[in-house]
Amino acid sequence: MMKKRNVDLVCDIAELISLAEGGRDRKELLQQVVTSVAGHMQADVCSIYIYDDEDRQLTLRATQGLDHSAIGKVKLQLGEGITGRAVRELRPICVGTASQNSSYKFFPGIHEEEYEAFLAVPILRGLRRIGALVVQAGEANYFTPNDVKALRAIAAQLATMIENVQLLDEARIEAEASEVAVQKKVIKDSIIRGRSASTGTARGRAFTLDAANSESCMLPDPDGNGHTPEDFEIAVEKTADQINKLQRQTSEELADVAVLIFSAHLLILEDEQFTGRIGKLIQSGTDAVKAIAMVVNEYVEVFSKSKMPLIREKVLDVKDLGNRLTRNLLNEESDAADYRGQIIIAHELLPSDILKLSAENVEGFIVSSGVTSHNAIISRSLGIPMVAISREQADSIPDGEELLMDAEQGCIYLSPGEGVYAKYRDLDLAWKAMHNASDMKEETLTQCGDRVHIYANINLLSDLQPAREFKAEGVGLYRSEFPFIVRNDFPTEEEQYVIYKKLVDQMEGRAVTFRTLDIGGDKMLSYYSNVNEANPFLGMRAIRFSLQNKDIFSQQLRAFLRAGAQADARIMFPLVSSVDDFVAARDIVHECMSSLDAEGIDFNPDTKLGVMMELPSAVEVVDELAQEADFLSIGSNDLIQYMLAVDRTNEMVSKLYLAHHPAILRAMNRIVAAGLTHEKDVSICGDLAADSRMLPFLLGIGLRKFSIDSVNAPMVQRLVNSMDIGKAESIANRMLDFGRISEVDAFLLECNLAPETEV
Ligand code: PEP
Ligand code: MG
Repeated sequence: MMKKRNVDLVCDIAELISLAEGGRDRKELLQQVVTSVAGHMQADVCSIYIYDDEDRQLTLRATQGLDHSAIGKVKLQLGEGITGRAVRELRPICVGTASQNSSYKFFPGIHEEEYEAFLAVPILRGLRRIGALVVQAGEANYFTPNDVKALRAIAAQLATMIENVQLLDEARIEAEASEVAVQKKVIKDSIIRGRSASTGTARGRAFTLDAANSESCMLPDPDGNGHTPEDFEIAVEKTADQINKLQRQTSEELADVAVLIFSAHLLILEDEQFTGRIGKLIQSGTDAVKAIAMVVNEYVEVFSKSKMPLIREKVLDVKDLGNRLTRNLLNEESDAADYRGQIIIAHELLPSDILKLSAENVEGFIVSSGVTSHNAIISRSLGIPMVAISREQADSIPDGEELLMDAEQGCIYLSPGEGVYAKYRDLDLAWKAMHNASDMKEETLTQCGDRVHIYANINLLSDLQPAREFKAEGVGLYRSEFPFIVRNDFPTEEEQYVIYKKLVDQMEGRAVTFRTLDIGGDKMLSYYSNVNEANPFLGMRAIRFSLQNKDIFSQQLRAFLRAGAQADARIMFPLVSSVDDFVAARDIVHECMSSLDAEGIDFNPDTKLGVMMELPSAVEVVDELAQEADFLSIGSNDLIQYMLAVDRTNEMVSKLYLAHHPAILRAMNRIVAAGLTHEKDVSICGDLAADSRMLPFLLGIGLRKFSIDSVNAPMVQRLVNSMDIGKAESIANRMLDFGRISEVDAFLLECNLAPETEV
């Protein structure tokens, strides 16, 4: 047999590819590559598959050795067959005897059956999947590690070439489509895929409410002018009544966060410069809708240029007011002039905007600037679906377009046809069944009878109702920052006490874990912006802020201690990076206890103090932390972010945010082990606690306390009920052995626990 000439091969391909720069046809070039590879390697078959990210499929695009009629027809799903697996797992797979391999997928009629040796190498650009280069040979075990190396080198060169050609193709398609885009014409049943930030389904018309684009909020007047100054006055009165009603309602329903949330609306409405000026413009002959738009846009201009975040934040309020006035002027059917039946598309939203729009009955949110953790958390608490998409995608959705949101999957259907609606109805029913808590039992047991405790994560007081419905054993995490965020100033100790006391009272004797203020990172307080940090996630966040601002910290601690006087209340500190952080925070708690004591105010001197395990540095000293603290709680959202150095809010790196990274698995195991050694409680309160794929692992390493969003409780209880601890332990032990993400991936797949998003 002739010797394989891999060095020559790599050189020849490099030359071929350089020819491609000269504009050679891609099909022809790929064919030349496969012919050349097959020849040099003395392989019977060489094929190239190209990957399509949209439908996650590989399609055969060139082959030497297989039947040419298969080109364009043979398709593999990501993960399907040896080739699909290599691309999914981002690694070459070399198989000596393909017919005996469980992953082998045989396509009849293309004469593949004769070949035993199979080597598939993914074509990648960084982590982007471009396709696969595959060689096959009749002789078993034909390919060597050197062949793998050679093929990898070729795949790397091909990746750049194919990607460049694809980019050119896309640019051409884009140019052709740009006219259509200008008209914002949407093809029936088209889908936009984004990332789910708050699950659920929604249906409604698109409504762009973008602080950056002042024109887009104004509704057109179908009748042209003809509205009198009196018509406008009536619209103003109607608007004032509606806002007052909204304010009353939200103050009752969201007492902890929405006090006077619509006050800016009312102030602007009463401002002579605003309403008066619009009235005067109408009097002097300007069309009423235009007059509203003109004045609103002037305000938007001024507000958006303000150096003060508090003023800039009012941009959406003015726009909202403009929309409401316009609707009332046009006498739109609905008396409420709210966002019922509408899905808001916005570049950016603040937690306060989300609260306001929720009070105004919005159906869903589509956000195009990445989702801050607090926005996602608050939308989930309010039960409003939220999907994050790119700016370009958001711009392509025309105002008024009929939309369906499947926020479980992060999909948005534009102008959906009957088939999609039918699917949506099924989805909605399935979603409701999955989250129905009515059958939940008080106690959660595994199949083998081990007791597991399910606690609730509480963000707003309104979360208490669903938590009680699912019979939560207590509150495992109260995110205390929301009453701070949606306000114009720090809430006083008394204001905080009222909120915390409600929480304790409504949990009726069950444990309540208060988490001290966690601001900074992606959410600064607009009224406390004296810090301008280049890396806020690494800056004055959480416990660091509290230790630096002792007065604010002490007020919160006193309010916690007072509220928990007669209760099983605990306090935990976020983002602790050292034993020293914990000890410093504990000292301040003790000072607060002494001052309360001196003032004769009731508190629980046995209040347990805990550490949130969110930083790699804390993991390194977990033994010492477990010795000092009364309990530990794994904040997996941040633990993953900081251990992997992947911003949890950055769309561009979301694929690298991997809960099943071996480093994360081992860190969690260490934390639980330290708890066991020092006989301290360990719980988990990040989103991972409700991740069905990871639950066997979490149980297997010994976690028994899970604090989760109420919406996920039925699913978690059902899963725990079906689990056997022995089996969970062996799953966990296997997972802890792996050093590579791809190995964990493959194992999860094997256990039928495939991740939704692959590496
Ligand atoms: C976490 O980081 O996992 C956590 C629970 O805290 P938050 O999501 O509020 O940062
Ligand atoms: Mg956190």
